Amino acid sequence: MIKAEELVTFVTTDIAAITRGRSVAAANLPDALSKGVGWVPANLSLTPFDEIASPNPFGSSGDLRLMPDPEAGVRIEGLGGRTPLHFYHSNITNLDGTPWEGCVRSMLKAAVADLEALGLRVVAAFEQEFQILGASWPLAPSFALSAQRRADPFGPMLMAALGAAGCAPECFLPEYGRDQFEIVCGPAGAVQAADRAVTIREVTRELAATMGWRASFCPKTDPNGVGNGVHIHLSLTDLQGNPVTFDAARPGRLSAQAGAFAAGIVRHMAALTALAAPSAVSYQRLKPHHWSASWNTLGEKDREATLRICPTSERPGHDPSRAFNMEFRAADATASPHLALAMLIRAGIEGLKAGLSTPPIVKGDPEEMSADERARLGIRRLPTSLHEALAALEADTVVCGWMSPTFLDCWKGMRLKELEIVDGLDDAALCRRYAGVY
Ligand code: GLU
Ligand code: MG
Repeated sequence: MIKAEELVTFVTTDIAAITRGRSVAAANLPDALSKGVGWVPANLSLTPFDEIASPNPFGSSGDLRLMPDPEAGVRIEGLGGRTPLHFYHSNITNLDGTPWEGCVRSMLKAAVADLEALGLRVVAAFEQEFQILGASWPLAPSFALSAQRRADPFGPMLMAALGAAGCAPECFLPEYGRDQFEIVCGPAGAVQAADRAVTIREVTRELAATMGWRASFCPKTDPNGVGNGVHIHLSLTDLQGNPVTFDAARPGRLSAQAGAFAAGIVRHMAALTALAAPSAVSYQRLKPHHWSASWNTLGEKDREATLRICPTSERPGHDPSRAFNMEFRAADATASPHLALAMLIRAGIEGLKAGLSTPPIVKGDPEEMSADERARLGIRRLPTSLHEALAALEADTVVCGWMSPTFLDCWKGMRLKELEIVDGLDDAALCRRYAGVY
């Protein structure tokens, strides 16, 4: 019998948030690391349902390289008797090695570099919820130990696998929704944090599959169920790594820089939501009173604020400055984590450059406020459908300017094709369709 050859896959996670790639034999890795593998521009116009948007900006022409980042390798052995899961997060380049305009990972790197030019870095962590589909478990209460134990050994194996994958997992928890869990991982630099978000999804899906289940990160798997969110935690440091987000004397305890960064995000929140919650099913989740996000607000310790200032430990003698962070709650797993984070950073940069002051910290439920009060605080509803999200993005020429015209054209074309494919599905069928992919 021929022994299986270990494969190493060079992957890119695209604007449909699907991790795609090509594999080489592990024995050829040293050579392949410097050469990369071929890639096709039009792949970026693939919808989540495989039908490609047509026409698209690329057609059948052009060639690219998928170049592995040698620092971003993941190798996990022993998942349910499978061969090692071995891949490298990769950048897409033109044939001359320059970044391709459609590479979301390179877009994130460019945003990081522009923030560094202002003397700042982002530290980020993606907190991700998912549901296990297809397990024949008895019902268990929300957050219950019994909900975790009935899945055993899934939790411990997942934590070990994510540790081996360099994701620095911090917490595994049974969540509120039916068969819902959450993984929290440690903070990292922006590119590493977005890579980790992808790795966590892929490892979770693979481990669940070895147990005969499906792990779904779909924003909603059932219109009446609980949403699966992706919460992007952000804080700022200087170039030496010293935290600069915290200032106990200022509104929300946000430093002037963090307040300006937050103001940029709030100013562009509708368009950012389009990019961070980019699917038809995303808007089943972004509804008031679902602990997700539905208004363009900054809030403190409020799980309905789209940008939430997170609490810190108030133990005597504890320095809150390093852990202090804010959380963007509108994102979901149908969005590229690299693109979503790149655009949040670009919005932050805009706020910093304009020297914006900290936006009003909204207390109370915007649903309950009068229209006048909302207007006074600048509160507006976020898009309520992908159609509205597309219009919000189109209307925000500043946000559109952060992407190349070709990229934007591709992104919009892909989303319009996606809308055409799911047109006419009722809410339940829509959730099912997306849960089959994510
Ligand atoms: N499941 C909620 C969401 O869709 C989040 C709940 C929580 O605060 O953890 O984002
Ligand atoms: Mg949660």
